[in-house]
Amino acid sequence: MTDSNEKLRAVQEQMAKAAKLAQRKAEDVRLIAISKTRTADEIRPLLDAGHRLFGENRVQEAASKWPDLREEYQTGDRGPVEVHLVGQLQSNKAEEAVQLFDAIHSLDRPSLVKALAKAMDKLDRRIPCYIQVNIGEEPQKGGCEIGDIASLLHGARSAGIEVPGLMCVPPAEVNPAPYFALLAKLAKDNSLPDLSMGMSGDFETAIKLGATYIRVGTALFGERK
Ligand SMILES: *Cc1c(COP(=O)(O)O)cnc(C)c1O
Repeated sequence: MTDSNEKLRAVQEQMAKAAKLAQRKAEDVRLIAISKTRTADEIRPLLDAGHRLFGENRVQEAASKWPDLREEYQTGDRGPVEVHLVGQLQSNKAEEAVQLFDAIHSLDRPSLVKALAKAMDKLDRRIPCYIQVNIGEEPQKGGCEIGDIASLLHGARSAGIEVPGLMCVPPAEVNPAPYFALLAKLAKDNSLPDLSMGMSGDFETAIKLGATYIRVGTALFGERK
């Protein structure tokens, strides 16, 4: 068994334990393997192990890897490969993003709603978009302000964009639990079922607080260079 195969098993076991402790079903939490900076050769062992859900944070990088990997793994009984964008998106790359990805976790401003809606109409392809919330009110981070969630949600839906939930990246180096709990409350207030939260260092806490998608890179692939 390859190293990343073992890491996948370990993460899945930790996920199952955390779900059980929270009295949640393990299948209600999905693992997005964050493959940014990893080469196709580093990614293949996870695909070979049957994992099908991945995340990237840059359009260009994803375009250089995923069309080929999708084709390589399109057959078989594991279902299709799914790739989500988890990084900030410039409006001028909206069309490329809609073509490349199966979901976008970084919808954070009205101008991007407009660009994505236009791209979806043009390509006749609809993909779900999660609203990213700047949960720690950090100036350097992407995400909309907490007070703007409802209007952004309304704008996206009016433009025909499906919004299943909220996403956040809490401030580094502090206990993430209060931020995860806040995101969960905001999702509930807006009747949104999905929560994209939790990374390698804190996904068990995120699961306890209601995450339906966790985004894990380092714990699966090792440290990034
Ligand atoms: C890189 C990244 C992750 C994964 O982080 P790890 O600590 O490597 O698990 C999750 N979410 C986003 C938005 C990222 O950019």
